[in-house]
Amino acid sequence: MKKITIAIDGFSSCGKSTLAKQLAKRLSYSYVDTGAMFRAVALYCLRNGLIKEDGTKVYKIKEFLDEITIGFVFNPKVGYAEVTLNGENVESEIRNLTISKIVTKISGIKEVREKLLVLQQALGKDKAAVLDGRDIGTVVFPDAELKIFMTADTIIRAERRLSELKSKGHKVTLEEVEENLKLRDYSDTTREESPLIQAKDAVVIDNSNLSREDQLFMIDALVQQRILKEDI
Ligand code: C5P
Repeated sequence: MKKITIAIDGFSSCGKSTLAKQLAKRLSYSYVDTGAMFRAVALYCLRNGLIKEDGTKVYKIKEFLDEITIGFVFNPKVGYAEVTLNGENVESEIRNLTISKIVTKISGIKEVREKLLVLQQALGKDKAAVLDGRDIGTVVFPDAELKIFMTADTIIRAERRLSELKSKGHKVTLEEVEENLKLRDYSDTTREESPLIQAKDAVVIDNSNLSREDQLFMIDALVQQRILKEDI
């Protein structure tokens, strides 16, 4: 069977990574969480005083990029690869609201994007990969055989993210989470470098009222279509 590249883009907390992991598992493809890469760079900057916690000051990050190595290590307990920062697994540390608040300051920097783009393209070069992010179908793999653009109502997304954060023991309010989602959506769609836009050939999925199972069923059909098309 032919292997394809699946690009999943969309707004924050639309369930992109949940879907990407489900697909990768089902197809035995690799899963690349590109958001985790930006979050890991943001964590490096925070730890090294290159950005303030409130994101108000961003210092000479470009000069430190050579000091940052982002990688992935497969975690058999969860069944997918987790992100590493200079060899350290930082998967749980990058998921907090502090990182969510500063990450757009980092993801808007051209040199950061250039560095991560090389890595993202290398990770997906052999196809058989599911990548999720903001610019996968437009910039990273514009020739991906299947592109999905995900969206959902802001309040539904905020509620989902809140329960995820709470289940991990984070103390946050719905208002904080909703505000962060709105700010990130705004920043991600309006930045100059690789903004979040829907690729012309993307299939749009609004999952506000879709269960995870229904969504997977729909997308599975699209995947099979693309694989068969590629086989002809
Ligand atoms: O996907 P996630 O919410 O973890 O991504 C965190 C942030 O990383 C996004 O808000 C966005 O600013 C940035 N990002 C990006 N391009 C990608 C993936 C993520 O700019 N391909």
